[in-house]
Amino acid sequence: MGALASFVVLAAVMGQSSAPYVRSRVSPGDEATQCLYWTQSKVTYQQSTVGNPKATNHTEFDAITRSFQSWQDIFASCGNLTLAEGSRVNSRTVGYNRSGDNINLILFRGRACREVVDANDACFAQDTCANTYDCWDDSDGTIAITLTTYDERTGVVYDSDISFNAARFNFTTGNGGPCGIVATPDCVDTDVQNTATHEVGHFVGLDHTLATGSTMNPSAPPGETSKRNIDPGSRSFVCAAYPKGSASQPCFPVQGSGNGNGNGDGDDDDGCSAASGGLAVLPLLAAASLLARRRRGGR
Ligand SMILES: [Zn+2]
Repeated sequence: MGALASFVVLAAVMGQSSAPYVRSRVSPGDEATQCLYWTQSKVTYQQSTVGNPKATNHTEFDAITRSFQSWQDIFASCGNLTLAEGSRVNSRTVGYNRSGDNINLILFRGRACREVVDANDACFAQDTCANTYDCWDDSDGTIAITLTTYDERTGVVYDSDISFNAARFNFTTGNGGPCGIVATPDCVDTDVQNTATHEVGHFVGLDHTLATGSTMNPSAPPGETSKRNIDPGSRSFVCAAYPKGSASQPCFPVQGSGNGNGNGDGDDDDGCSAASGGLAVLPLLAAASLLARRRRGGR
């Protein structure tokens, strides 16, 4: 990818909706802009062969597969696309490459960029550290990021990649209670499936909602597993945006093509923050999430 001018906008949690579901927009939160959606009938995702570099028994692969499967079960009943898992890949590169093969990649970053990259490295300004040095380059408090590339005019998604912040968070896959001071083997710290099910919601075009019990709530306190189960509001999104037997639904009619080079690509880089203050922190208090957005120039 070329040296593209980019900037990051940090938006506070203000103005977030409590609707049953909120669709992602070309311009996040701006209902005058188009919704994001896939138009192909089959979307394949692939996990990095590395898995979680901090893990020992690598149960995270199956946890991620289960997360996608939870969404696929809904698509199978009332949706129009298939989420399929492809073979594991060696790629460590997220984002969209116009000239190359693109994969929808799921990976864990095991180290923070600021700890392994010289502070003067141009990659920080260019927003390229993560791919160049295989490191986590977003906020410390962000558990995972879904980076979606889409057509700014139509909202059609080209590519979506999910990165987990294993530099900062202790990802677990157990079914026991929250990890205490002395962790038990089955305890839950930051649950992979809980996190991934939320991120796959972004992957298919959902934004955050503050609706109680939603998988798409922007915060996830340690020990939480409730987001593994997709809530009714998020389920209804699948049936409405991807109706079985019909085309995927934009939020308003897509303008006819033919007006030249008015297209642009957008990157919606959607971070999900954590309650890092322990169990005493109320989930809503922890909802001070970062919504970081990167934009690219026209195609
Ligand atoms: Zn999120």
